Amino acid sequence: MIQIRNIHKSFGSLEVLKGVNVTLDKGKVLVIIGPSGSGKTTLLRCLNLLEVPDQGEIQVGDIALNFATGTKLRQESILALRKRTGMVFQSYNLFPHMTAVQNVMEGQVTVQKKNKDEARKRALELLKKVGLADKAESYPHQLSGGQQQRVGIARAMAVEPEVLLFDEPTSALDPELVGEVLKVMKQLAAEGMTMVIVTHEMKFAAEVADHVILMDQGVIVEQGTPHEVLEHPTSPRAIQFLNRLS
Ligand code: ADP
Repeated sequence: MIQIRNIHKSFGSLEVLKGVNVTLDKGKVLVIIGPSGSGKTTLLRCLNLLEVPDQGEIQVGDIALNFATGTKLRQESILALRKRTGMVFQSYNLFPHMTAVQNVMEGQVTVQKKNKDEARKRALELLKKVGLADKAESYPHQLSGGQQQRVGIARAMAVEPEVLLFDEPTSALDPELVGEVLKVMKQLAAEGMTMVIVTHEMKFAAEVADHVILMDQGVIVEQGTPHEVLEHPTSPRAIQFLNRLS
């Protein structure tokens, strides 16, 4: 489902990704961990072109893009890749002037060109799925952080992406609200959704991931099953990072 080959990305003179390679099969969950500033979010954002790599290749489903310095990406290619991915942001990024159901309808109407009745029907189904059937008409400011993030997940799923991308989805939440969001994510994983998750929740990573990559300074220093990476790391930088957490 996902192939990332030799991705490089710099911001000015700072090289943030230094040749990253990842493969993920359909229906699997990839968790990206590593110290702050190691390039995790940038890698995730490259997957839906919120950041455009300087070099390398990205394939999501049947869309393959090749990046090289100086070549301009076609707008259709960007849109095609974005349609295959749904992003869940750390800070939810809901439209404040729209209700929960309107937030979940928005992409369906603007991107998928669905009519409003159809979009609303699917939005209500998705809100039910994330346990918010009774909050459909609430505005974001009337919802807790955990509820807002669950609306964010419903919104990301609404346009039927092939892959869901999560950028530290629980790190803005009060500790008591983390569980309800992780529960929804676990349910999606169990249903076979392909997911890429940047997180600091190691216990969750161990439970939900099929594949874990540990990044440091723009490279992958360790990758494998959760058991391999979290319990038996071999690279000194991975060992140091994991020791600091325990
Ligand atoms: P992580 O998610 O592992 O904390 P990030 O991918 O967010 O790391 O950031 C990696 C590095 O890239 C950091 O040093 C960060 O300051 C820098 N960076 C990220 N986005 C930008 C940007 N848009 N412009 C300049 N520097 C950036």
